[in-house]
Amino acid sequence: MNSIQQKIFLYNTLTRKKEEFAPNHPPYVGMYVCGPTVYGDAHLGHARPAVTFDVIYRYLKFCGYKVRYVRNITDVGHLENDADEGEDKIQRKARLEQLEPMEIVQRYTNSYHRNMDQLNVLRPDIEPRATGHIIEQQALVKKILENGFAYESDGSVYFDVEKYNRKYPYGILSGRRLEELQAFTRELEGSSEKRSPYDFALWKKAQPTHIMRWPSPWSDGFPGWHLECSAMGARYLGETFDIHGGGMDLIFPHHEAEIAQSMAATGKQPVRYWIHNNMVTINGQKMGKSLGNFITLDEIFRGKHPQLQRAYSPMNIRFFILQAHYRSTLDFSNEALQASEKGYKRLLEAYRTLHTLSPAQESTFDVSKLRHNCFDAMNDDFNTPVVIAHLFEGVKAINSTKAGTEQLTSEDIESLKDTFRTFIFDILGLLDESTLENTHLIEELVGLLIEIRWEARARKDWATSDRIRDRLKDIGIQLKDSKEGTEWSYIT
Ligand code: ZN
Repeated sequence: MNSIQQKIFLYNTLTRKKEEFAPNHPPYVGMYVCGPTVYGDAHLGHARPAVTFDVIYRYLKFCGYKVRYVRNITDVGHLENDADEGEDKIQRKARLEQLEPMEIVQRYTNSYHRNMDQLNVLRPDIEPRATGHIIEQQALVKKILENGFAYESDGSVYFDVEKYNRKYPYGILSGRRLEELQAFTRELEGSSEKRSPYDFALWKKAQPTHIMRWPSPWSDGFPGWHLECSAMGARYLGETFDIHGGGMDLIFPHHEAEIAQSMAATGKQPVRYWIHNNMVTINGQKMGKSLGNFITLDEIFRGKHPQLQRAYSPMNIRFFILQAHYRSTLDFSNEALQASEKGYKRLLEAYRTLHTLSPAQESTFDVSKLRHNCFDAMNDDFNTPVVIAHLFEGVKAINSTKAGTEQLTSEDIESLKDTFRTFIFDILGLLDESTLENTHLIEELVGLLIEIRWEARARKDWATSDRIRDRLKDIGIQLKDSKEGTEWSYIT
């Protein structure tokens, strides 16, 4: 039995069309999203997939599905370039900062979590790390070798793309055909271990200086980057699961390689629906360190980057991301963020106004149609910008009702409240930042008073010092002095 109320149509990258969502075992849904490689602070490029799949996760749960959401942490094996060359990104950062690689992993996992919490992105149900699944990855390499789709070369193991392509089509996700790849890939430099330039590493032998290494039948080494997602997806969601997501930049080679690995091991397509979000640009340009427009989320939230006119709050960023469909490009600019902030504030203002409306005998506005339209938009490939557009029709109706040019019955007011609450907070995952802003303001103001009080004490002005302490106590704030400074708390 299942009680799923909504029919969701979603765009499947694999079939290149919108399909009705029908999971393997309703109401259970397995969803895997490629998470970050944790070697630096999260930036705008991380915010988009996180928010996109957070809304999908929230909506599926809202519709009654029991979702197991797996989002991995890549903490080994992601090399500096896609040709299986260069240093491991995490090890490189550890070397530069003279830290243990796992310290880098922990530091940036923590900061990623902090940023995602700020964006009100729900934590996944399972957050597996690649280094915690070396055994599963080695088992997968063995299976692929046994099935004849990989070869060993000087302690490393490579996936044999050409051989695979003779049995299964390689490139079904990206639409890149092997013949085209052959034409575009440069000939191998003489000494490569690979048979073909497009073969990819399943296992890499570690160089003597490489720290993160594990024993294996082939060499002391580490897994190739694509392998972890195949291994962990199968481990937690089964050989064929429902949804796999990530940014469009992962379609090739990462997701293409995932499909090939799983097919080579089991003969089954690992994923039924592939969902990919489009990329972000900044002032029309691709984001990149060399372009000087690489902006971290902390820099955005604090307004500390030369390209930013001021700070933009986490909900401003979240709302801005949701104002575009996830498959469209999204261009960040000061103007666009400021316009979006106005919209977000107007929406929440209307929600507050909604609680002050006086009911009428009859309604002049069709609330149930509005509610219906919002669901239709979500069911049409999670079309959040259309949901927001419908909510703004509601905003107009609320403001007109307040002004007396429209009217709503008490039943419709309640239904509109429920619609707004459901979509704004539960499904789009927005928060009302005005209450957070107040908290922040109070912290700043008390901090300022404590500073003035210390200055007063420094010049032995005890009267001012006591007055600040006593007046704060009157309004419910307790100061506690110590050698380190003054702490404060609410009197409960
Ligand atoms: Zn992945």
